[in-house]
Amino acid sequence: MHFAHLPAGYITSKLFIKKFEKRKITAKTFIAWGMFGSIAPDLDFIYWFIDHGKHHHHQYYTHFPFVWAVLVLLSLFALLLDFTRGRTTALAFIFTFNGLIHTLLDTIAGYVLIFAPFADMNNPITLAHYFPWDTNFLEFFVILWALYLWKKDQILGIFSKMGSSLEMIE
Ligand SMILES: [Zn+2]
Repeated sequence: MHFAHLPAGYITSKLFIKKFEKRKITAKTFIAWGMFGSIAPDLDFIYWFIDHGKHHHHQYYTHFPFVWAVLVLLSLFALLLDFTRGRTTALAFIFTFNGLIHTLLDTIAGYVLIFAPFADMNNPITLAHYFPWDTNFLEFFVILWALYLWKKDQILGIFSKMGSSLEMIE
């Protein structure tokens, strides 16, 4: 997956923002942290440069779905215990959740050590073979969905205008 991580982060942040409406948090901040989380696993590229590319960057722990699943669970736990309904726990949740989504999208579009660090450290797994279309379509679909959510009001506005002008013709 190359281009769809940020749009995917935007989609999940947009879908979750309503759940955190009552917290003192702006949509911009929430989405920004969500989108940062959606590319956070790729920060291992820094390692890759230090390592002189000896390992594929999916072999670092930032690309282990297990690591992100644990972080999501911890953030959910923090959310449950956060009786003050603060913003930090909400941001931690969307950040880690999008990190997990990143590793799952990478598993569909490429090879990921899905059971690392417990097993298959040398056998990355991909779900690409089970995906009915070329994974580029998935990327394209995610980008389209994000664009729709971003410009939803304008798009719906155009359609309603088209509808009212059609009524005028009738
Ligand atoms: Zn990645």
